[in-house]
Amino acid sequence: MNILVINSGSSSLKYQLFSMPDERPLCTGLIEKIGKEDSLIRHKTIREEDVQVTEKTLAVKDFGEGMKHVLALLTDSGLIKNTDDLEVIGHRVVHGGEYFSTAVVIDPDVKQKILGLSTLAPLHNPVNYKCIEFAEKIFPNAKQIAVFDTAFHQTMPEFAFRYAIPEKYYSEMHIRAYGFHGTSHKYVSERAMEWLGKPDVKMISIHLGNGCSITAVSGGKSIDTSMGFGPLSGLVMGTRSGDIDPSVILHLQRKEGKTADEMDKLLNNESGLLGLAGSNDMRDVMKMLESGNYDAELAIDMYAYRIKKYIGSYTAVLNGLDAIVFTAGVGENDALMREKICRGMEYFGIQLDAESNRIKSDQIREISEKSAGVKVLVIPTNEELEIARQSFELLREDPPCEQVILY
Ligand code: ADP
Repeated sequence: MNILVINSGSSSLKYQLFSMPDERPLCTGLIEKIGKEDSLIRHKTIREEDVQVTEKTLAVKDFGEGMKHVLALLTDSGLIKNTDDLEVIGHRVVHGGEYFSTAVVIDPDVKQKILGLSTLAPLHNPVNYKCIEFAEKIFPNAKQIAVFDTAFHQTMPEFAFRYAIPEKYYSEMHIRAYGFHGTSHKYVSERAMEWLGKPDVKMISIHLGNGCSITAVSGGKSIDTSMGFGPLSGLVMGTRSGDIDPSVILHLQRKEGKTADEMDKLLNNESGLLGLAGSNDMRDVMKMLESGNYDAELAIDMYAYRIKKYIGSYTAVLNGLDAIVFTAGVGENDALMREKICRGMEYFGIQLDAESNRIKSDQIREISEKSAGVKVLVIPTNEELEIARQSFELLREDPPCEQVILY
């Protein structure tokens, strides 16, 4: 069975075709700057050792056109003969609210719920919804599956996911912590359990990409996570502030008359590494550090310190710690950042092995001292593969797994 995975962002569309159950990628692709005159299409067809790359710059006016390009690239490269050749499409959907704790087969009711959750994820859910609609039109005979970023965190206890504000905001407006990056945290924590050879692991999964989040996982279940109602709280990120005292927001609104949209822009797009050091790319900030730049040094220290604080609190929440997992762009590649985060944590049993930490690899690896109580692992994430796996499992299990429906 071939499964096409569609991962649509606010202005980009990533896709991958997998042969299942052998999990072989047959192609990967990315359409960037959708809606602009100079959209960029990059497609890679993978046939054993032979990789063929197609690149084009042209205007892709919307996601519907984007999906048509995906179909043309799949047919032109001989991966499918016609639209009936594709049996399953797995869609990444950012917000599943409290409706979805697992992947689901998309039907009209699921689509309505995804669209209804747009108020909670205005940049993502409407685009995810559109891509589902286009996919249904283009591939009418394929089963469409939704895999939610929030689903993995639906196991958090109520005392972890509620905010201490009047109850009606939860019951009437669904204001609570949902958590994000769930597909990545689920994927890497399962790889960690396999690596460690046991399921009852207490671990902390740290996803450090452009967006960053940290999750406490016990026995394969998320019990707390740093992102909340939206993907803004928690760690210092590329352009997002992470945790900030809400009185700062009120103060800026009062003193500078900032509107909600202006505050949104400031905290989501102008803060984090970018706001502190002038670049949202950790590689640039690390280069600035090498040349003795103070702002870069401070940004890096703040980034590491925030993670350290979360490791401490999640170790308390878990009542112990067996493993820490680093993943995504920074987590997988930046040895110095991993070193800064783990330094001075011997009390918790965390001790890196300097040499294994420096090794560059795209494979799962252990970077802690052999004698340390906590295993520190680097595990490359693969959200697209996780979506393909969940879609495959769901269809195999037919009928779909039980869903948690709270409202
Ligand atoms: P996204 O959230 O967009 O999927 P990624 O997982 O690709 O993000 O991570 C992007 C971040 O990873 C950027 O800050 C980038 O600088 C950082 N990164 C990528 N490669 C390296 C590297 N070799 N060393 C340090 N940081 C890196």
